Amino acid sequence: MTQEKRKIIILGSTGSIGTQALDIIDYHKDKFEVVAISGNKNYKLLNEQIQKFKPAYCAIADESLEKKLISDKTKVFSGDEGIIEMCRVCGADIAVCAIVGIAGLKSTIACIESKMTIALANKETLVAGGKLVTELAAEYNTPIYPVDSEHSAIFQCIQNESNRNGIKNIYLTASGGPFVDTPIEDMHKITVEQALKHPNWSMGAKITIDSATMMNKGLEVIEAKYLFNVESSMIKVCVHRKSIVHSMVEFKDNSILAQLGRPDMRIPIQYAIMYPERIDCPSEELDIFNTGSLEFERPDFDKFPSLKIAYRSLEEGRGRSLVINSANEEAVEAFLKGKIKYNKIYEIIESAYNTIESADEMDLSSILETDKRTRIFCREIMHKRRQ
Ligand code: NAD
Ligand code: MG
Repeated sequence: MTQEKRKIIILGSTGSIGTQALDIIDYHKDKFEVVAISGNKNYKLLNEQIQKFKPAYCAIADESLEKKLISDKTKVFSGDEGIIEMCRVCGADIAVCAIVGIAGLKSTIACIESKMTIALANKETLVAGGKLVTELAAEYNTPIYPVDSEHSAIFQCIQNESNRNGIKNIYLTASGGPFVDTPIEDMHKITVEQALKHPNWSMGAKITIDSATMMNKGLEVIEAKYLFNVESSMIKVCVHRKSIVHSMVEFKDNSILAQLGRPDMRIPIQYAIMYPERIDCPSEELDIFNTGSLEFERPDFDKFPSLKIAYRSLEEGRGRSLVINSANEEAVEAFLKGKIKYNKIYEIIESAYNTIESADEMDLSSILETDKRTRIFCREIMHKRRQ
């Protein structure tokens, strides 16, 4: 008997995760049907994807580029609202949410409300609106499967836990990024080029900078809290430079389970969209005989204060993680454009954190309002400091 294909929407199909998700889908053509794709500005790649995957729908965030999409049988949408509308009408069973930043929040919510299974790469969605998003997912009875490699590892390690009571600690591994050995007094000299060179992973620009500042790991601590509903004190970060062990879970009997693999995002992407099935994957095998020793170190919280502030935001609650996320997005964008120095990224986040107020119970409009206030504040201080 032939199995029905899973209908899938890829939000952010032109990005690093989006293109790798399409790789997996292309490899398993018999299992998936791409019904919708979206991108921000890259209409050329969207046109190639339309040609190859023939989705019924395609959306581009930049409305001025809508006419550039060559669509014969594909219905085209544009603008933020166009993306949301596409989510609502496309009829997908699974959504790969791979837009970068809080820009992906509304479309993730639209997919949840359309009762799709969520394969979530867009961690900023949980950092900015974790409570709202997880509550909505519970209300609509839609599972959220992590795509982030660490969270996929944890998810894989707890498959046999009928409840979470047996978990003692979660060890989130971190490569440490390119500056793990850079002396703290040299951090101010870091250039955009240096920060964009990640030792193990090839990813989009924003997350690559987040990895260099270790804010990525801070965001992942917050992401883990919402995905696995554990106390923040149970989430520990450990530096593991080889990115072979993708994370570990320690249980109350002092047994530790880990998930290992090559640093290849196609493995966690496939796990999320095929869950719970395990089938072959186009990724390379991990050659355990040539892996060498596996080492774990404590992170340097003084050199990477982004970790400290992430934990602090979880302890304080009241939407504090949202402020970190918005300020980080603004600061990273400014750094990538050469407007601020590397070591100002953290200063801007801290200033916003200490100034911008946020509330505990947040609906979508108050999340977006706090996001806007934080961004305006960050732009103002960056502008003043340049003068
Ligand atoms: P990327 O920059 O390569 O791709 C981002 C995608 O989002 C692109 O398709 C882009 O067109 C789209 N996009 C950007 N701004 C948009 C907007 N305003 N409106 C609509 N679409 C917009 O980023 P990426 O590396 O693929 O990361 C995507 C998400 O996955 C991020 O949240 C990141 O943290 C997470 N993630 C990525 C990796 C990785 O290996 N790349 C690993 C773990 C988690
Ligand atoms: Mg990760």
